[in-house]
Amino acid sequence: LKQIKKAVFCELIESWEEAQVLPKELREKLNKEVPLKIDAEIFESRDNQSAKALLKLEDGQRVETVLMRHEGGRNTVCVSSQIGCPLACAFCATGKLGFKRDLKDYEIVEQVLFFARYLKQQNEKVTNIVFMGMGEPFLNYDNVMSAVKVLNDKDGFNLGIRKISISTSGIVEGIKKFAEEGLAVNLAISLHAPNDELRQKLMPVGKKYLIKDVLEAVDYYIEKTNRRVMFEYIMIDGINDTDDLAKELAKLLRGRLCFVNLIPYNETDMFTGSTDNRISRFKDILMERGLQAIQRYRFGADIDAACGQLARKRGEL
Ligand code: SAH
Ligand code: SF4
Repeated sequence: LKQIKKAVFCELIESWEEAQVLPKELREKLNKEVPLKIDAEIFESRDNQSAKALLKLEDGQRVETVLMRHEGGRNTVCVSSQIGCPLACAFCATGKLGFKRDLKDYEIVEQVLFFARYLKQQNEKVTNIVFMGMGEPFLNYDNVMSAVKVLNDKDGFNLGIRKISISTSGIVEGIKKFAEEGLAVNLAISLHAPNDELRQKLMPVGKKYLIKDVLEAVDYYIEKTNRRVMFEYIMIDGINDTDDLAKELAKLLRGRLCFVNLIPYNETDMFTGSTDNRISRFKDILMERGLQAIQRYRFGADIDAACGQLARKRGEL
């Protein structure tokens, strides 16, 4: 098993034939029963900074995975945890697809392997993983945790636990359970609005989990782990990007071990993204009020990089 893990996750073999340490009969058996080939279509952005893969799974379903290449050799893979998503956020292309099924742990791992093999050809590595693709990770909790453990395994892929981040729309039970795992995985919360009224318009799940309950779970996580939490806030033109909402957000989050990540909205036919000037202004208001805030770099607009966009456009799901 140790040799197999090394071959698959370190040497990144694509066929068992390459695993010369294994006996020939075993290689043939493995090739037949558990082939290593990953069936995928790849779309590369013109600037070569991002790529999106559409993986075909054994039941014919397709799932999206995105690679983001940052300066200095940082390569982040954005993985999906479900096919579609049951939570139907108004701004999200995945939400519009509806829910098909949970992904198995190995289907999550496979997404990372695909880009690890791709990067190997360019002498590069996957350095970070974010669960920000299709689906809600905390509604598929066990498979997500199992995949995290495989990717972190010292004898296998060996990606540092601090290099992995999970984003949730605010599933309170999931956040609490996660706090108790004792794992130094990063937690990101999709907030997108500083009050329940607006949040519920954008995210129906906000009716089940009020902001105060989400924040209480987040505080429990911080208390347990002493780790800084990221609040994600997509910037949608005229909807959640006004000065007043920035002030309200600063007031809501102040005093926590956290920072706000302002995400340029990847345009869909539902909404338009805020201008860069608006995002800067919003960020300044948060910073003036003592909150840490960063403005996320815009990736892959030409390859419909926000998850669900591609499958939706192609009518795949
Ligand atoms: N379901 C989880 C994780 C997947 S979505 C969650 O909602 O957190 C990952 C992030 O992408 C979320 O913050 C989500 O709000 C954001 N997102 C969805 N559609 C987007 C779009 N078109 N442009 C930018 N970000 C988007
Ligand atoms: Fe699901 Fe996250 Fe999209 Fe909402 S934003 S529909 S929770 S994937």
